[in-house]
Amino acid sequence: MADVHIKGAQVVTVSGVQHGGIVISDGTIDAAGPSSSVPTPSDPDTVIDADGMVVLPGAIDVHTHMHDDELFPDGIDFASQTASAVAGGVTTVIELPTQTPVTTPEAVLRKAETCSALAHVDFGLVAGNVQDPDIDVTGIMDAGTADFKTFTADPYLADDESIATLMRRVGNAGGTVRVHCETQGLLDDARSTIDGDEPDVYMDSRPLEAELDAISRAGYFAEYADCPLHVVHISSGSGAREGNRFKSRANVPVTLETCPQYLAFSKGDVADKGPFLKVNPSLKSDTERERLWDAVQDGTIDLIGTDHFPTYRETREAGWEDIWKPYAGLPGVETMVEFLASEGVHEGRISWPRLRELVCAAPARSAGIYPKKGSLQAGTDADVVLVRAEEYEVTADDHTFVGGWTPYEGQHWSARVDTVIAGGEVVAKDHEVQSTAGRGQFLARPL
Ligand SMILES: [Zn+2]
Repeated sequence: MADVHIKGAQVVTVSGVQHGGIVISDGTIDAAGPSSSVPTPSDPDTVIDADGMVVLPGAIDVHTHMHDDELFPDGIDFASQTASAVAGGVTTVIELPTQTPVTTPEAVLRKAETCSALAHVDFGLVAGNVQDPDIDVTGIMDAGTADFKTFTADPYLADDESIATLMRRVGNAGGTVRVHCETQGLLDDARSTIDGDEPDVYMDSRPLEAELDAISRAGYFAEYADCPLHVVHISSGSGAREGNRFKSRANVPVTLETCPQYLAFSKGDVADKGPFLKVNPSLKSDTERERLWDAVQDGTIDLIGTDHFPTYRETREAGWEDIWKPYAGLPGVETMVEFLASEGVHEGRISWPRLRELVCAAPARSAGIYPKKGSLQAGTDADVVLVRAEEYEVTADDHTFVGGWTPYEGQHWSARVDTVIAGGEVVAKDHEVQSTAGRGQFLARPL
């Protein structure tokens, strides 16, 4: 007997959009696709009349910073942040370290246990931030993660030799290294030329060339060390092209990630939004933003993650006086699907199948959890998001958790996450979360 029948939907497949539905039982997909291939179940517990809404696999955000006891204030933890994820149609997150290191097998297991008790969504973990490569790589992989994060910039800067050694060890063990790409020497020099502390000078402190140089060098390091490379949060179209050189050489797998903020905003928006656009890497020119959309369209960019970093509004306000004060980082997990559906699909920049690839299938492959996640194949986890067309103005008040602010405040969007299903259960409706903390599970990455 079926548990859920979603009917009358526009189901997004690899190649197109088909009028049809989805049948779910025991938490897994029974069938999904055009009406002709999805038999109407006899007596389902729940019938959802999707009424033309678009249905996608639940989104997977491969880049979040959601839990750090030593850093985040009260109210910001894996419970409130994964609730925000599920409200926005993100049913799996891959959580990265922030300030507290996760560089031992014990630390991976400890974080997995802590987060399991709080999780509204299934999750994976990334180890990091690796500065000293003398770590137990295989032990960390046995503990459940094959991804290691390292930096070419402060505050977690690793020197060249350390990055090379880490890549060699991780490559040998079958893992992937994720690199934050901005060259610290160029950031230092740029900073030394800046006097002011108003918001727009922040952009000048993190030049485009710092990103291009670091992406290029990370590519050569990965080839040298024979290690799969994942470049996180590329902020420019030129950065995507730089990374693409190494993809086409194909010695080792290279995946390129960007984030919604780099598609939504450019330097010029800082005059209006000030510290609410403080993010690393910083925003680039309008030209770079347009080139980045091109890279998202043509497949140069493989996937989109958010680099979700939550802070409260009051903490951010301080940046109007002194932009160097607040942490860099933007909340984004709850707005990713709506942004890309509105500004990407509805504005004609990408298709629904391309969106599905960018936030569902490719992230799942990157995290080693495809097709269990990120597909609508029969027998896989019934994680599904329904999106309806609706014109509205974005406001923080309409969200489950954005710390009282969102960089997208005041934008006019046209797609809204309607209903979210995870493991066959409705877990959110109209950004109202109906799941409980602790229902999400740790997805130990298969070796
Ligand atoms: Zn990050």
